[in-house]
Amino acid sequence: MKIAHIASEVYPFSKTGGLADVVSALPLSLKANGLECFVISPLYKNIINNFPLKKSKESIDIQVGTDIYNIQIFQYKKSGVHYIFLSNPYLFERDGLYTSNGKDYSDNCLRFGIFTKAALHFITNSIGTLDIIHCHDWQTALTAPLLKTEFQDIKAKVVFTIHNIAFQGIFDFSELSKLNLDTWLFGFGGFEYYGKANLMKCAIIKSDAVTTVSPTYANEIQTPELGYGLEGVLSEHSYKLQGILNGIDYNVWSPQKDKHIIQKYSQKSTKRGKTINKDYLLNRFNLPKDKPLFGFVSRFTKQKGIDITIDIIKKFHKDINFILLGDGDSSVKQELETLNSLKEAAIQFGYNEPLSRQIYAGSDFYLMPSLFEPCGLSQLIAMKYGAIPIVRKTGGLSDTIVDISSNGYGIIFEDYTTDSFANAIDRALSVYHKGESDQFYRLAMEKDFSWNESSKQYITLYKKLRG
Ligand code: ADP
Repeated sequence: MKIAHIASEVYPFSKTGGLADVVSALPLSLKANGLECFVISPLYKNIINNFPLKKSKESIDIQVGTDIYNIQIFQYKKSGVHYIFLSNPYLFERDGLYTSNGKDYSDNCLRFGIFTKAALHFITNSIGTLDIIHCHDWQTALTAPLLKTEFQDIKAKVVFTIHNIAFQGIFDFSELSKLNLDTWLFGFGGFEYYGKANLMKCAIIKSDAVTTVSPTYANEIQTPELGYGLEGVLSEHSYKLQGILNGIDYNVWSPQKDKHIIQKYSQKSTKRGKTINKDYLLNRFNLPKDKPLFGFVSRFTKQKGIDITIDIIKKFHKDINFILLGDGDSSVKQELETLNSLKEAAIQFGYNEPLSRQIYAGSDFYLMPSLFEPCGLSQLIAMKYGAIPIVRKTGGLSDTIVDISSNGYGIIFEDYTTDSFANAIDRALSVYHKGESDQFYRLAMEKDFSWNESSKQYITLYKKLRG
């Protein structure tokens, strides 16, 4: 079977979050199972400096109104997967992938619309027959609508994966109109959404299958609480909706191989390895030596529970060292800045992969108090690095973490409140002070959340669609 993934980010070339990890690991696992895989993504700033890409002679012209955008094509092959990067410096070589200083680029609809069209031109011109086009999130949501209109020659089936329904790609119709799309797509059975154009809504309707990244989230997005306005559309199309749990790539996430951490460790040498990595963080950030270390690596947003985490830091800092890495809007950052004056808190802003890995390796516990969580990869990474996850019972966190009271390896709380989170923290402190941490992080490290199982579920789906 031949599959093309179209996505707006792919690790290690580009990354803002878990989407990049998935688009990296899933094709590798599919390839290991005998499928031929292409991954098509934009060429952002710096990729070309860090990887030996080959420039193709051909290029693609996309007409938008009276303007023509020329797209150059760069190719790279690794571990049997073909990576195709579509380049237009004006559109893609910017400081951020989607935002600058926390604000979305005003032409995101145009940027990713042109990208998706160029990807489909590349498929037509250079790949030929495909079984499946697997596209990810709103940035590539035009795939299925375009296959029903401008690209009817492409006979592949379309799988659309929702990685986070909170980001739907909602724009004024005037923005979408710039892309010269067939106007019959603009109605209620297409993009129309309360007077605006909703790209994800149209993708749900027009794709052959819709997946999301955990079974629990597949149910949750069909409810008014977590459907973000698309629960009706999803319920109507539930016959083609499926939740397939994400995995992580243990070649990328392994304390035994991680070149960014201070001391590598295996399951046998975990205690020593974690002590050295923790001491490094305590020294580097000038944190007191006699307390447990709780880590948090994430976007500083309400989705990730940053507001209740701030409450917890204020409440527990006398007993716990906290280290947080991430980015958020300026009001959250201001509040977090003030916490840096506590001697037990280290709050670091920005995207920093080496530090993120050092935090997973050096933390005793890992905080993930999400308001909602489609799947979550950080808790899986934390487990592999021997940090005990403390999570709220939602989405993929419900599907991956078992509480220590049920012979599990994590601490789960239910209500999105500071009190409920504080109870979980008390339970964690009790585990720590009774000297029971070792038994739980060992259990966590033994769990297997590799892609083996999940990629098989995607293959079953692809085969079913191919007929
Ligand atoms: P998201 O909803 O942001 O995609 P996930 O838990 O699915 O959350 O995946 C987050 C991924 O992004 C993990 O690999 C995590 O280590 C990484 N990550 C998040 N924030 C940062 C950051 N500030 N610096 C480095 N890596 C980060």
